[in-house]
Amino acid sequence: MALMNQNTSESGIEAAIMYVDMNSFFASCEQQERKELRGKPIGVITHPSDFACVIAPSVEAKRRGVKTGMRLPECKAVCPEMIPVVARPYIYRLYHVRILNVLKAYCDDVIPKSIDEAVLNFTTYRLVYKDLKEVALKIKADLADTEKGCGPFVKCSIGIAPNSFLAKLGTEIQKPDGLVEITRDNIDGYLKNMKLTDLPGIARANERRLQMIGIKTPYDMRHSSEALLRKAFGGVVGNYWHRRLNFREVDFYQSDYKAMSATRMVSRLQREDPQALESLFISLCTRLEQRMVKQNVYCKTVSFYMRYHDIPTWETTIHLNDATQDAVEMRLYIMQQVDQFEQSRNFKIFNNKVQSMGVIISGFIKGDRVQYSLFDNKIKQDKARKTLYHIKDKYGRDVVRKASETIRAHEMRDAIGFGSVKDFNGVVGAPDAGLMNQYLLENDAPRPVPKHVLEIRARKQKQKIAEQLIQTGHDHTA
Ligand SMILES: [Mg+2]
Repeated sequence: MALMNQNTSESGIEAAIMYVDMNSFFASCEQQERKELRGKPIGVITHPSDFACVIAPSVEAKRRGVKTGMRLPECKAVCPEMIPVVARPYIYRLYHVRILNVLKAYCDDVIPKSIDEAVLNFTTYRLVYKDLKEVALKIKADLADTEKGCGPFVKCSIGIAPNSFLAKLGTEIQKPDGLVEITRDNIDGYLKNMKLTDLPGIARANERRLQMIGIKTPYDMRHSSEALLRKAFGGVVGNYWHRRLNFREVDFYQSDYKAMSATRMVSRLQREDPQALESLFISLCTRLEQRMVKQNVYCKTVSFYMRYHDIPTWETTIHLNDATQDAVEMRLYIMQQVDQFEQSRNFKIFNNKVQSMGVIISGFIKGDRVQYSLFDNKIKQDKARKTLYHIKDKYGRDVVRKASETIRAHEMRDAIGFGSVKDFNGVVGAPDAGLMNQYLLENDAPRPVPKHVLEIRARKQKQKIAEQLIQTGHDHTA
């Protein structure tokens, strides 16, 4: 790790990074385990439901047009023969351990990035291995070996490059079973053939801004000045992009964020209704979760404050043993403090004097530095969170929501999230099993729309029509 954290190109040492990304991981594990699924289009779903989302289509299903995040009816339309398979996280964790064991046999600096991705730092091995492509082929062979690794149905794409970002990009170029080395000689060729959004971390909004200042492809981006990229990204993020594309390591640094906060002013109507207040509070936690997922960071400190009209502010700060990214977890910790206080005094924290409230998080740890504990499900949980955010990006915020957020759907417009993986694993017999159930991913079946939501929609519709009338009126007079 030490070497990877140095600015390797400035110290004159070219780093050697390998990125391993398993192809259609959950689906491949199922095909390896169950002969009858091999060679067939399958789609792994989180729970048995006719409207479930596919979180991992097999290679065969992808070829027929099935995409991650599609619902079963949609899948049926493009690929009627697709077989839905309910996820078995236990199996995937087992395979994850086997994969790490294979990787660790070649390199002692292996960092798991998620349940199906890992990055290897070979910088100190340059005298041991002449050609990292050969090492990559050996790793592939070991992974395909039922004894040493997983078996022939579990395949991976491997990228090799002088930094972790470009190594990861290498895994995106060839799928499945890819092997791509990005060097100073071939990088421009690859980048010229890519769209900006092919770069992991470049979203449509970034793409628009870049195009506006004349940067049309990743190739243009690499050859833009640091100053121009700073302008495009509005700050230091632009410098990072310049460095990434020019062979320097930035993705292992600690996060730049000292603190993030989400705050809300409370309206008169909201403060009269304790449930509305709680919904607001949940939306704050969820917004922070969303931002942490985007930044790939975890926090170790969570603070919460409540400001009142005529009494002093109530606040609490919690230091966590294990960093978290989870809105439900943050909410739980804060509510414990709230309950404790309320029980010791005769005072309601969520009361009708509330003016504003806020959640502040700090003590950030980069995602790849979080100690992955295989026993508390963190990896699967993180992977699930990422997958679901991906689904959300594609289908809009309302597709995936925690049951807890449906209390006040209309107040949750910017609150998205989902339960921890414990939920869809079903912690049978666990003392908190009942408690966790309320955070189950909501049933995918269409729900009846609550009356108050219908009323609001009707009001908005009326307002819109009124506005349009006014506008057309103006047009006539003009
Ligand atoms: Mg993968």
